[in-house]
Amino acid sequence: MNPLCVFWFRRDLRLEDNHGLYLALKSGLTILPIFIFDERILRELPARDARVAFIRNRVKELPGVRVFTGEPVKVWANLFKNHNIKAVFCNEDYEPYAIERDRKVAALACAAGAAFHTIKDQVIFAKNEIVKDNGEPYRVFTPYSRAWLRKLNPQSLKPFKSGTAKPAPPINKVLIRNYEKQRNRMDLDATSHLGIHLRFGTVSIRKIAQAAKSLSPTFLKELIWRDFFMQTLFHFPHTVNEPFNPKYKNIRWRNNKSEFKKWCEGKTGYPIVDAGMRELNATGFMHNRARMITASFLTKHLLIDWRWGERDFAKKLLDFELASNVGNWQWVAGCGCDAAPYFRVFNPALQAKKFDPSGKYVKKWVPEAGTSQYPKPMVDHEFARRRALTEFHRALRTGPA
Ligand code: FAD
Repeated sequence: MNPLCVFWFRRDLRLEDNHGLYLALKSGLTILPIFIFDERILRELPARDARVAFIRNRVKELPGVRVFTGEPVKVWANLFKNHNIKAVFCNEDYEPYAIERDRKVAALACAAGAAFHTIKDQVIFAKNEIVKDNGEPYRVFTPYSRAWLRKLNPQSLKPFKSGTAKPAPPINKVLIRNYEKQRNRMDLDATSHLGIHLRFGTVSIRKIAQAAKSLSPTFLKELIWRDFFMQTLFHFPHTVNEPFNPKYKNIRWRNNKSEFKKWCEGKTGYPIVDAGMRELNATGFMHNRARMITASFLTKHLLIDWRWGERDFAKKLLDFELASNVGNWQWVAGCGCDAAPYFRVFNPALQAKKFDPSGKYVKKWVPEAGTSQYPKPMVDHEFARRRALTEFHRALRTGPA
């Protein structure tokens, strides 16, 4: 049998500047490119999930890729049985489930006498590349980002010549230049919408970071947050389900189901909260500022567990990315790595005034706001704020150290 090198596409669905693919090509062996739809993940998604459709379309555009559906470990067992595989290359994934899956596939490869290589591609710095002097991972963003910037050099952003660019999303230079001034404005379409492309690797992080570096330090900082949350998840995998700060386990969430439903449906009676949720429900996208406002409302005003909100976003966001979703939810709830202080409770009306000054965002998504058709606020802001502060304060005083 012809000796093969398998390149396993996962969250790197592009030919251009693909580090793992570049190294696979350098192996000199015949390449078999593959993609596996993981049955376990598909089972949990609706039949017409837009993200799966996005992946299907992108995979179709990659030439010669063999597509499988099944449990990855079983698919691999068959591949090793039926082919003479000498090497496997794929790009690293830092999620706990993916790490475990890769460990099993690496064991199969080893048994079949094939080399298994996982390569850094989806972040600029991974794992232990940015750690404190004592070798521990950073828990606070600002020193992490300073260390990240110190370590950045032209080599870190150099593209790998792995193929030519298929229609990659355009990098809108004007948008990035204006990013700092406009990024919080919900009434302007002033953010990049690159989330889904970075999530599935249809654009290279090095390419985006290179543009950010020359055009906008603020935009670059957002990309550093992305790296930060990925390394946090890598070092602290329990944070997928547990608060980073254990004291927060003690919070007595109210978890009222009918209130949660109103929040999910965008019927809270707070126009800016409802606008965010309705944008998400209708498009699979929500502006970052609205994500912060809606998440704060759920965890503080309604005292509903951040994990409920995180799961709802995970179901709906086209750019859902476990590390960023969990990291940001915990950040807003106050229980995460380098979290916003728990006593920061967004005032929805003030947020709307500041970041939707023209009212265009609310008008677009909640046209009935201000009419008799629109529900009254489901909870009084000041009452809810005090209730949240009392509970957070109690939990932190009595929680485990
Ligand atoms: P831009 O503002 O144009 O930013 C460019 C890129 O930088 C983004 O695509 C993203 O990759 C990265 N980025 C920007 N802000 C952040 C951030 N705060 N944390 C990490 N990366 C960031 N982002 C996700 O990619 N997936 C998620 O599941 C996700 N869930 C979130 C949940 C909550 C509660 C909050 C408050 C934020 C969440 N974010 C998430 C971060 C952020 O809201 C989105 O990355 C951003 O809104 C995507 O739109 P954009 O591509 O236009 O972003």
